Amino acid sequence: MLSKKVLFLFVSIGLGLAFPCMVCFAAQTTMQLPDVYVSANNLSQSDTLLVIVKNEPGRVTGKLGLVPIRFFRSENNSDWVGIVGIPLGKKPGDYKLVIHSLDKAPLMENITVAKRNFPVTDLVITPQLLQKGYTVKKIVSTIENKENKLLNKVLHIFTPKAYITKPFIYPLLKINVVAPYGDIRKSKNYSIQHLGVDLEAPVGTAVLAANDGKIVFERNMPDYGNTMVIDHGLGVYSLYLHLSHFNITTGRLVKQGDAVALSGDTGYVTGPHLHFSIKVRGASLDPLKFIAATQTPW
Ligand SMILES: [Zn+2]
Repeated sequence: MLSKKVLFLFVSIGLGLAFPCMVCFAAQTTMQLPDVYVSANNLSQSDTLLVIVKNEPGRVTGKLGLVPIRFFRSENNSDWVGIVGIPLGKKPGDYKLVIHSLDKAPLMENITVAKRNFPVTDLVITPQLLQKGYTVKKIVSTIENKENKLLNKVLHIFTPKAYITKPFIYPLLKINVVAPYGDIRKSKNYSIQHLGVDLEAPVGTAVLAANDGKIVFERNMPDYGNTMVIDHGLGVYSLYLHLSHFNITTGRLVKQGDAVALSGDTGYVTGPHLHFSIKVRGASLDPLKFIAATQTPW
């Protein structure tokens, strides 16, 4: 009985005799791989993976592990772009990235996700905040039970249309980080994670739409203050907190760079700033790393 390997050799030689070798060579080379750019192979929890598939006229699909990637057309219309968020709770380890295009062999890459540790800082209540009625218990309870619940109703809506056609921009002309993403703010038995970045902004600074989209939420809340949410489509949202003024009403479409609001000091703050967050399909991502990952030209 012939082993599978030997049988394969016989069949190969047989085909080689039946057809000229050049034909065999041509048949092998038609299954080329798609031209794919992957922003990084080593990522951490809360990072963003950008996948660009170039010069594919037909549809492109893909997966990272078991999670499907939703591709959209870039502004130049010849590239397919996929934005993949690595959730904070993603299990560290190796995941297979697979990209399928119409007439090419599937492209496979290994993506490693590492655990990300965040520093623990104090949950600060100034005498002025105490005077306004803020207590640690009240802040944590209102954020978890009311404000996040209201926001999550909006953030879990999946809009199948992509408003995005180009890389994201920063929401302020000048970027100076006053509190980084991810710190765990703690006071006695209470703790809350800072799922956004605080950017220096005197009251009245123009807040810019990070990309094209639709304003889907505007509300004044006790801790987040005046909050605006922009839906960019395909489950990608940007959030702007502690605003002093909304320049554009809910339901309106906006273009990247539009001055959609003015920054402020509303809600639970120790001073004026802009809190900026990014959510992708319900997962909170590090916003500045998100913008950096999307800024490869497409
Ligand atoms: Zn903040």
